[in-house]
Amino acid sequence: MAHFKGILLHSPLFFKYFAHSSVQGITLYPFILVRHQSSLQDKLLIHHEQIHIQQQAELLIIPFYILYLSNYVINLLIYKEHYKAYRNICFEREAYGNENNFDYLRYRRWGAWWRYLLKTKGK
Ligand SMILES: [Zn+2]
Repeated sequence: MAHFKGILLHSPLFFKYFAHSSVQGITLYPFILVRHQSSLQDKLLIHHEQIHIQQQAELLIIPFYILYLSNYVINLLIYKEHYKAYRNICFEREAYGNENNFDYLRYRRWGAWWRYLLKTKGK
């Protein structure tokens, strides 16, 4: 089955006003926004964001953000540190864990992010 891969946009103004300087890409279904023009060729970053496209599509977008934020807040209580809390959000665990496997979205199962909630802590 062919998956929708998102619409790529180079959006420096969005990042200037709405994102921390460390953020290079963000997925707001159906768009993948990147800070730098050069990131349009960054296969790893784009693939990471395409995994988020799939997660957002299957959760019908708004519930994705609610779950994403809830998971982050719970993780902050657990890890007491932004970066660890962010990296251990189940959606990020799935995206970081598979971003360099470019076949991933071809065989990924619907709702695969769910399993990553139960994994033991990562980075
Ligand atoms: Zn991500």
